[in-house]
Amino acid sequence: MNISIDRSRSAALAKLASAEFDVLVVGGGIVGSGVARDAAMRGLRVALLDRHDFAFGTSSRSSRLLHGGLRYLEQGHIGLVREASVEKKTLQDIAPHLARPLGFVFPAYRGQGRPLWQLRIGVKLYDLLCRGGNFLPSRALSPAETLAAAPGLDATKLSGAVRYADALTNDGRLVLDTLRSAERHGGVLANYVCFLGAQRDGVAWRCTAEDTRTGRSLSLRALTVVNATGPWAQQIPHSSVRLRLSKGIHIVVARERLPVKDAIVLGEGRRILFVLPWGERVILGTTDTDYDAAPENVTVDASDIRYVLRVVNEAFPQLRLDCSDIISSWAGLRPLVAQADGTPSDISRAHDIRESRPGWWDVTGGKLTTYRLMAEETVDELQRRLGLRARCRTATESLLDEPPLYSGIEPPALTREAVAHYVHHEWAKTLEDIMVRRSGWHYLQRDSANTAQIVACWMADLLSWSPEEQQHQIESYRNSTRVAA
Ligand SMILES: Cc1cc2nc3c(=O)[nH]c(=O)nc-3n(C[C@H](O)[C@H](O)[C@H](O)COP(=O)(O)OP(=O)(O)OC[C@H]3O[C@@H](n4cnc5c(N)ncnc54)[C@H](O)[C@@H]3O)c2cc1C
Repeated sequence: MNISIDRSRSAALAKLASAEFDVLVVGGGIVGSGVARDAAMRGLRVALLDRHDFAFGTSSRSSRLLHGGLRYLEQGHIGLVREASVEKKTLQDIAPHLARPLGFVFPAYRGQGRPLWQLRIGVKLYDLLCRGGNFLPSRALSPAETLAAAPGLDATKLSGAVRYADALTNDGRLVLDTLRSAERHGGVLANYVCFLGAQRDGVAWRCTAEDTRTGRSLSLRALTVVNATGPWAQQIPHSSVRLRLSKGIHIVVARERLPVKDAIVLGEGRRILFVLPWGERVILGTTDTDYDAAPENVTVDASDIRYVLRVVNEAFPQLRLDCSDIISSWAGLRPLVAQADGTPSDISRAHDIRESRPGWWDVTGGKLTTYRLMAEETVDELQRRLGLRARCRTATESLLDEPPLYSGIEPPALTREAVAHYVHHEWAKTLEDIMVRRSGWHYLQRDSANTAQIVACWMADLLSWSPEEQQHQIESYRNSTRVAA
């Protein structure tokens, strides 16, 4: 292994073991990253661990939207929609490279689904709930305008559409840029370190963890602990969380097959499915099915794919998409807060911040869009316990302190320099880290084997991998990204 890289990881692990922290954040998804950044910016001594790669969980498997959640309006969750609508604008202010406004066309059909008048009222209210107005004002579209925005859409009984705005982001990149900011403000961060347990030791928690790459154990002290492990939250020792996991999948197809100008919202009963333009590709999703196996084993299966293809083919009758059109796919788990009987609660899309034992917080639920607010509220509570009163600055200070290297939404070129950057500055340790979460190139190609071979060569050079290790990396990337359909 390359000596300098090994040294920087060793230094982080040594710091974890020797210093006492104000807060240990368990989990490096968007929630944990947000808490680490906010706490570090307020001057707290922060450590963060992830048992896998950063953003390995739900936070790199979402629909990639910064949105208020238009459909929660019909359930009357106005406060929730307002909160997320304000946050989506705040994220655009602090991370413009990760918030690209996008028009959403929501068609209406006579005698079927939501009527046009209801959609018109809904989107006007939606605009009003955004601080100072939405990214673009909403408007009604005639049937002809609707078909121009969504060529091939079923025109039978089409009464028109509404067009409203949300923003497209890059979920995994949002996590990484948030973590880089946390590190710049003094946070000590380590991926591939699994939190094992904690015991109260005077006013602090004595925590044990394991470096999953070497099997070495380490212990660290922290005055407070934040359990931000998303779908894993109920498995963590001391956790008081009860979750109901709901699986959602996405598939990617070529944009030339579905040449939409805007995002299209397809109603399917009370559910909706998005067609999201993404450079030369289109993302289709998502589903919502109960899931009760191990979170790390979630995969896209044949019935998920059949469902998505059916809904899209019914909406675009001439299209006839089939499995051969699928370039890539992903599956994620919504960590919904459950009621005592296990059903998702009314506040299932809201977040829950709970001090279940003195100095121990479980932070669950919410969404990507509201992560900054969740972090602010969590760190306010940590400060109260620690007797501190520093002001939160995350709503006004840029996520990056220099212009971004790339636009952020679509995958940038995958060059040797980019790979070196991911290894040296973004904690990439495995081929999968780079292909899936740093560059996103895995999702661009039907068969990414050739690109993976080249990247593995560069990584072998940068990290002094043996030929066996290089081969092992290629095989584990292939296995971990195999679709189970
Ligand atoms: C299909 C789908 C679509 C979605 N679309 C959107 C959307 O468009 N917009 C939006 O705003 N929200 C969306 N969401 C919701 C959003 O993605 C999630 O709310 C959010 O990503 C949850 O983040 P998290 O940090 O809580 O969990 P995660 O991202 O899962 O992070 C938890 C982390 O904890 C780590 N961990 C687990 N156990 C341990 C341990 N013992 N020690 C150390 N680390 C551990 C894991 O490795 C993981 O990295 C979507 C969710 C799904 C499933």
